[in-house]
Amino acid sequence: GCGICTKRCPFNAISIIGLPEELSEDKIVHSYGKNRFRLYGLVVPREGVVGILGPNGVGKSTILRILSGELIPNLGKLDEEPSYDKVIKHFSGTELQNYFEKLKNKEIKVIHKVQYVDVLPKVVKGKVIDILKRIDEKGKLDEIIEKLDLKNILERELSQLSGGELQRVAIAAACLRNGDIYYFDEPTSWLDVKQRFNAARTIRELDGRVVVVEHDLIVLDYLSDYIHIVYGVPSAYGIVSHPRGVRVGINAYLDGHLKEENIKFRKEAIKFEKRPPLDASNRPLLLRYSKMSKALDNFKLEIDGGEIYKGEVIGILGPNGIGKTTFVKLLAKIIEPDEGNVEGDIKISYKPQYITPDYDGTVEELLSSITNINSSYYKSEIIKPLQLERLLDMNVKDLSGGELQRVAIAACLSKNADVYLIDEPSAFLDVEQRLSVSKVIRRMADEKEAAMFVVDHDILFQDYISDRFIVFSGEPGRFGKGSPPMNKREGANIFLKEMGVTFRRDQDTGRPRANKEGSQRDLYQREIGEYYYVD
Ligand code: ADP
Ligand code: ADP
Ligand code: MG
Ligand code: MG
Repeated sequence: GCGICTKRCPFNAISIIGLPEELSEDKIVHSYGKNRFRLYGLVVPREGVVGILGPNGVGKSTILRILSGELIPNLGKLDEEPSYDKVIKHFSGTELQNYFEKLKNKEIKVIHKVQYVDVLPKVVKGKVIDILKRIDEKGKLDEIIEKLDLKNILERELSQLSGGELQRVAIAAACLRNGDIYYFDEPTSWLDVKQRFNAARTIRELDGRVVVVEHDLIVLDYLSDYIHIVYGVPSAYGIVSHPRGVRVGINAYLDGHLKEENIKFRKEAIKFEKRPPLDASNRPLLLRYSKMSKALDNFKLEIDGGEIYKGEVIGILGPNGIGKTTFVKLLAKIIEPDEGNVEGDIKISYKPQYITPDYDGTVEELLSSITNINSSYYKSEIIKPLQLERLLDMNVKDLSGGELQRVAIAACLSKNADVYLIDEPSAFLDVEQRLSVSKVIRRMADEKEAAMFVVDHDILFQDYISDRFIVFSGEPGRFGKGSPPMNKREGANIFLKEMGVTFRRDQDTGRPRANKEGSQRDLYQREIGEYYYVD
């Protein structure tokens, strides 16, 4: 059992080896009601940046709402009125006692960038520039506009912004205010890699304590000094682990094992094995496309030709608005190039970037119309890792963003095809789901006589699945150029140089890590031009 009930956990999501002392009644910080979600433990803001890492539904946003003073935790006592005095007493003798005293007496100013930025246009109206001017308590407006690349959207109404634009405005608004503590809930959603690092740098430069919830592990790693892992059973309970240094914390997360707490929250560890570079000459050619071009209104795309071999995963990297999706549509023959062509008659399976729940029926009906979903292979390779069991009976139209994404990925991979085109699979997924999806894609590529093209902004994900990279550069919205498929090192090097970040490999896990800007290693790698990593 999981310690909350005596039954076997239906989610089978967690197994507690030792005594579940984390789950005693007196450790409840907040409960949303009888038999509703419970949060055990809390995060302590401290000097530097504290990262919070965990799947969806385990209380990460609840933690931020409590710490930012929006929610007075009830300590699990549902029949009592919650109050800060009770909270202060509960945490007496700990750093949190002091924190809640200050919060109660309004002696600290707290800034909170919320998770769902799409609510902002409903509560704030006006032009971006007017809104930002109004809250510029630091007099740093020009600097922040530059750093977060907001120049082109200053005259736009808030209600007219795309998800990524709204996200950057929300981050700017938080950074312009004079706070003692800043909370950022999922700041990289909708952003491309460059924007993610720009946001991360801007957040790191804040003067004050910072707490960040984030699913992009490379960005979280780059941002944070400490990590709290939150684990548990989504929508049932969440437990906050002790803080760890950022490297050790993320490694423990990938390992799925918290040694000190004696907790195993995932059966398999995620390992970054150094695969030998794929030797294309031994492999049968699958697909050839020539140099292509395509003009769309004000946008012009040019693609260098390429040859793709069976079993390859091609990671596609580049900023927003540079033509990645247009390229994928050219490969899928959804649109025709003005010049050049994709040779041959190949079977394509395509997961679009923007997925709409336009299927009338259940998830089970949808997937059954594509393949036999009852085979043990399908269950173990697709249903289980993509957490689809619970969704099978649901109507496709009722799915949330992350649920729909997993179903769309499953549907794409279930088709029998020569080439799989997967556009932004990690969008809406939490860290745990991203890791599972990357495993599924990698395993399918190794087993099938097929090739995969994957567009994604999560570099850990891309590094894990890709054999080669295609890198897009140019001027977003105006002109884009796609490189030929390049070996991983060369492609990553060109891309990271453009992003202005250098990477290294973690010694223990082999995972890629972004070097802190200006560190010795960062400076050295820039000097020798090795942005990806040096062996
Ligand atoms: P996370 O940010 O880790 O995804 P949240 O803190 O948003 O998790 O939510 C944790 C759990 O608490 C979820 O199962 C959610 O459904 C539930 N929950 C969140 N807010 C409320 C609320 N206001 N009332 C009842 N349940 C809630
Ligand atoms: P990415 O996937 O790299 O974000 P896209 O390929 O979606 O980029 O788009 C590249 C550019 O082409 C964008 O400026 C976009 O607005 C424009 N664009 C895309 N599709 C069309 C279309 N059908 N008509 C006109 N412009 C388009
Ligand atoms: Mg949340
Ligand atoms: Mg796109």
